[in-house]
Amino acid sequence: MPGLNSRSDASLGASSPACPACAKSVPDTAIERYGNYGLFRCAACDLHFWDPRVMPDAHWYEQMYGGRDDKLLPLEPGHKYFLGDSLAPGRGELLDIGCGTGNFLAAARSAGYAVSGTELDRNAAQFAKEKLGLPRVLGLTVSEFADKYPGEQFDVVTFFEVLEHQASPIEFLQKVKSCVRPRGYIALSVPNRERWLTGPDVLDYPPNHFLRWNARSLRSLLSAQGFEILSVKEQPAGIVHAAQMINMSLRTGLSGRAMGMVAASFRDVMQMAPKEAAAALHAAATPRQRAVQFLGRMKYMACLPIAAAAYPYLRMRGYKGTYLYFLARLL
Ligand SMILES: [Zn+2]
Repeated sequence: MPGLNSRSDASLGASSPACPACAKSVPDTAIERYGNYGLFRCAACDLHFWDPRVMPDAHWYEQMYGGRDDKLLPLEPGHKYFLGDSLAPGRGELLDIGCGTGNFLAAARSAGYAVSGTELDRNAAQFAKEKLGLPRVLGLTVSEFADKYPGEQFDVVTFFEVLEHQASPIEFLQKVKSCVRPRGYIALSVPNRERWLTGPDVLDYPPNHFLRWNARSLRSLLSAQGFEILSVKEQPAGIVHAAQMINMSLRTGLSGRAMGMVAASFRDVMQMAPKEAAAALHAAATPRQRAVQFLGRMKYMACLPIAAAAYPYLRMRGYKGTYLYFLARLL
């Protein structure tokens, strides 16, 4: 879940950007442009980052991620890697930053941790408290938490699918560190930049995501911030991921023609002013659009057996899935 750092991160400006993870300056040649943003590559630590970076407010995330905030979602691979990680402590006090509806917190509680969480989405936080009986879910950024509860420290601080949203990962990690006990742990996941993609991942654009990590860039940041890295796991591409990628590579042009305005992808909706975005998100589909959506689902279903047949080959060639997981310990 998104956005848990300071709400007023400054951008770095348009000229001669500096890497937000290692502070080295990078050549002012964007490897990709989208809207007003440029994507830059740091040769020193291998991070790809967008510039400028100004994180949206909590309302924006509520609007864009609405619908995920009132039901119990299945555990994500990052959650499962942590809960099954033999190097994780297995007990103690745990803080999950951006806990969403609390699916991971409930599982961590069952596994033996004493859990607390932060979540800015009010509906998600309410769900966690009322439906899952999680008593401590606070509507604070990690920065606000550290300020409000100075000196409160945890054995483990987790932040799954959070770091890619940050404008300043160093500032974010420093706040996290202030919440970790000496020799305490952090666990996290991010989208793996080296995952198999056959087209643009519409979620992976600013202002939703600003940072594109791979194992090397994340290792470099955590080491520089004083962590000993215990586990690194790159999810392999599974059959569902493979079907999505095969589906994306078989473009028919059907949906683009028929969907018209409402087809605005999440990537485009993110660039809109709030009112315009709300209209696009809530526009009801016409019968023609629903028919196209149905055909799209059929096309995807047709890709599943192809993906299943290709699966042994994909595994053999080391095709990667979405999740990159790290467990690290404060030195
Ligand atoms: Zn760098």
